[in-house]
Amino acid sequence: MAISHQKTDSAPQRYGPGRNFIIQAVKLAWPVIKAGKKLSNFPVLRWLIYPFFMRPYNEVSSIPLNIDVQGPDHVVMPRRIVKRLLADVDDIFIFDECICRRHNNVTSPPPMIGCMALGPAIRRIHPSHGRIVTTQESFHHVDRAAEAGLIANCAHVWIDPASFQTRFHDLMFICYCDDTNCLYRTDMKNRGASLQGAYQRLPGLAVCVDAGKCEGCGKCVERCFLAEMALVNGKALIGPSCAGCGRCVENCPNGAVALNIKNEDGLYADLVQWIKGVSHLPIKNT
Ligand code: SF4
Ligand code: SF4
Repeated sequence: MAISHQKTDSAPQRYGPGRNFIIQAVKLAWPVIKAGKKLSNFPVLRWLIYPFFMRPYNEVSSIPLNIDVQGPDHVVMPRRIVKRLLADVDDIFIFDECICRRHNNVTSPPPMIGCMALGPAIRRIHPSHGRIVTTQESFHHVDRAAEAGLIANCAHVWIDPASFQTRFHDLMFICYCDDTNCLYRTDMKNRGASLQGAYQRLPGLAVCVDAGKCEGCGKCVERCFLAEMALVNGKALIGPSCAGCGRCVENCPNGAVALNIKNEDGLYADLVQWIKGVSHLPIKNT
């Protein structure tokens, strides 16, 4: 995989809001979105929260950075997929902190492993949030996130360009999320029908249960943030809206849940196709 350095040539234009403004905005939005997820179960009221998750203005797909699908050089394959993407884009911005973990005052996973923003619109992000980085620096950031047990969520959602005042189609995010502190991931177990499609599984990625190994302990059920894992007749069964986040794979004590990836090139092609379908992010070599 070629490693290139990022372009840092053009001077930034007008910046969007700075860090303090965004912190206050998240503080206000947090209880509204949390309450809205609960209200999504009620007729009429569910449409109040629907715009926050409505496709195609909200597209989120998970990449399990730490699942043990090894490539030839012992780099875990989903992690290498993210690095391939980073090598193929010119503009990468790393946030100094995760705004969600900061909001919740948690120290573990560390709040200083922030999101990445990709695309030409990053030049509008105010420098108080973080900095534009080289490809190599972005690789290091992915490794830190994986080692902290975080999952990568590729997100193209309207609230990001609206918050940072950038163009919608020129901005993608890779968020490094844990299960309990992410504004998007939390409280999804009891979501209403209008939020069923909030997370998309990459087509080249499948999760399956080996019923012969499953002892029905329920750990996977407990850890699934979407409630897409259930016990049926004492065996784990995966639901149709599984996002492929891999938490059940990581937490099964018997190794009964596995992540299947058709092959690295195929999964990368799926990811690129998905990104091109939802944004105008320029991706080289594809
Ligand atoms: S964690 Fe593993 S053993 Fe336990 S119910 Fe889930 S699949 Fe079965
Ligand atoms: S079933 Fe497993 S992979 Fe699918 S969303 Fe739930 S925890 Fe993630």
